[in-house]
Amino acid sequence: MRLGIFGGTFNPIHFGHLRAAEEVRQEIGLDTVFFVPSYIPPHKELAGGIPADKRLEIVRLAIRTNPSFALSSFEVEQGGSSYSIRTIEHVREAYGVTPYFILGQDAFNEISTWYQSARLFGLAHFVVMSRPDAKRPGLKDVLGGMPVSFEESDGGYVNDTGNRIMFVNVTALDISSSLIRSLRRQGRSIRYLVPEEVEDYIRNERMYE
Ligand code: ATP
Ligand code: MG
Repeated sequence: MRLGIFGGTFNPIHFGHLRAAEEVRQEIGLDTVFFVPSYIPPHKELAGGIPADKRLEIVRLAIRTNPSFALSSFEVEQGGSSYSIRTIEHVREAYGVTPYFILGQDAFNEISTWYQSARLFGLAHFVVMSRPDAKRPGLKDVLGGMPVSFEESDGGYVNDTGNRIMFVNVTALDISSSLIRSLRRQGRSIRYLVPEEVEDYIRNERMYE
């Protein structure tokens, strides 16, 4: 069984997240991709003061029709700061597999700053998705200084536990949650940037105004 973990603030979720996750799902042959909204993102202020239950609801609406996508409220239920390593360990214990941790290139470039970053690579495969405007530095530049070692293999990289880092080029959609929030603040349309149900929910709840 191949399980993906896709973490994020999802504030709000948009077609950039959804299409990228769908392409990764197919490329890697994942049975399920768990979308895991973070409770308190350690690296950023949560814009708009949007409570976790609303971000969960938006993700639920957005993925509803995809049988391979699932919502996990694990990080929200844990409370406190959300650290990906806890989520990865939870999936390992609950399902007995090494999960595929999915993230965008912009997020991957910061991974050395993550909580217990070096240990992460022993616990999960990493799937790095291309993203417009995110540079793709050499792996050594991203992991530089971390006590980890990878060798090139199969177009990706592998470490001594057999865990891999893969780079997947996904359709470039220059959409971000920041863009959605900014359009909302300006009273402009977010149609065709998010699923229709998400758009309706955001409007009805008067979010990001
Ligand atoms: P914000 O603008 O608030 O930072 P965001 O659009 O970057 O929001 P996040 O919730 O921060 O969304 O992203 C969660 C994960 O999804 C990150 O790993 C990020 O790199 C990835 N991601 C987000 N948007 C895209 C996109 N358009 N293409 C590829 N990856 C994306
Ligand atoms: Mg982001």
